[in-house]
Amino acid sequence: MNDWSPSSWQSHRALQQATYPDPAALEAALAELRGLPPLVTSWEIQSLKRQLAEAANGDGFLLQGGDCAEGFADCQSDIIANKLKILLQMSLVLVEGLKQRVIRVGRIAGQYTKPRSADTETRNGITLPSYRGDLINGPDFTPESRTPDPRRLLLGHGRAALTLNFIRALSEGGFADLQHPENWDLAFMANSPRARDYRKVVESLGESLRFMKAVGAGSGELARVQFFTSHEALHLHYEQALTRQVRQFPGWFDLSAHMPWIGLRTADPDGAHVELMRGIANPVGVKLGGELSPEWLEALVERLNPQREPGRLVLIHRFGADRIEHELPPMIETVRRTGSPVLWVCDPMHGNTETTAKGYKTRRFEKILEELSLAFDIHRESGGRLGGVHFELTGDDVTECLGGARGLDEVGLERAYVTQVDPRLNYEQALEMAMAVVRKLRS
Ligand code: PEP
Ligand code: MN
Repeated sequence: MNDWSPSSWQSHRALQQATYPDPAALEAALAELRGLPPLVTSWEIQSLKRQLAEAANGDGFLLQGGDCAEGFADCQSDIIANKLKILLQMSLVLVEGLKQRVIRVGRIAGQYTKPRSADTETRNGITLPSYRGDLINGPDFTPESRTPDPRRLLLGHGRAALTLNFIRALSEGGFADLQHPENWDLAFMANSPRARDYRKVVESLGESLRFMKAVGAGSGELARVQFFTSHEALHLHYEQALTRQVRQFPGWFDLSAHMPWIGLRTADPDGAHVELMRGIANPVGVKLGGELSPEWLEALVERLNPQREPGRLVLIHRFGADRIEHELPPMIETVRRTGSPVLWVCDPMHGNTETTAKGYKTRRFEKILEELSLAFDIHRESGGRLGGVHFELTGDDVTECLGGARGLDEVGLERAYVTQVDPRLNYEQALEMAMAVVRKLRS
């Protein structure tokens, strides 16, 4: 790959980038960022890639989830612990139900940027830059807040490091001990209509674990869970500054997260985002929607995985429940023609967004589940397999998506509608979704 370098993206068209008023200040921040320690290691990245390769072969299932956008203010112990808990709980349900290893990947510790439909926003005759996420500017509608500030890149790296530090400490034992999953109960779990089902899963898993211990499986392993990070690799200067060479493996690694992904709006095969991602050794996700032609998809797969390396490409489709049956089968065919091994993942969130009469951006639990259920069927009917799911969720008791066991309605949305961007499943809806996936796969 002699025509690639960490900066070669700069001669390609880069969509969705911030315009900094002071280029010297940006360069100063990037120089400092380049000198700071990375957030993840190449060993972890290689381990994730191996596991994704196995999942693509039918052994393992990817659970990817977290906020649409993390804010710097979300870097709080409760918020992080609750998110980790819900992802662990969901993974328990999936492990027990699917009898498979579950690969846990958070949208966390770096999900600080958002693609926007317009570069500017106008209110009462005043036009300011759009809010692009805390890594770039602030949400308040003032010139000070909306002007991109390069110091936010350093702040974001620091927040990601604090978040990851806490996750690593929690995952190392105690909290994440698989023999004591009762530690992971969320406080409000007791009142959940699904509490009983979840307890049953926990009991059954506890029995399996005791059995494994009895037959001599290492208790160290059982006390620890692996947890990986991901975010949309949108801010290319930030990703470049964390793209490094390491002594132990050849090539370049984006050490900002284990699995960066390319969003739908920036997935042009000739664009800057694909250019940067094509040169790194990490597993890379790509969001796919119905607007992509077969030629486009073929070019993308060829560019991102010319060596046809297993575990390298994770294709995350997001069509909407009403369109998936029409859009997905031809895409599966196209990818099969390329001969590239990929892990197929369904994001049932982004194609099912709607706005209520009162102006709340929301998603219906039933629609999310319907798309997911169709995705399982379509992959199976095509002779392949859906190897993972991608959710926007939180471990907190928010009210942003409609439906679920508690039947959240439009009036209920007003109680705790918190998100700045896309609506997330709350802890109860997320757990229920994991149980629904298991029911679907057993039926
Ligand atoms: C997202 O995952 O938050 C997102 C913006 O996704 P997409 O690129 O699929 O629209
Ligand atoms: Mn989103």
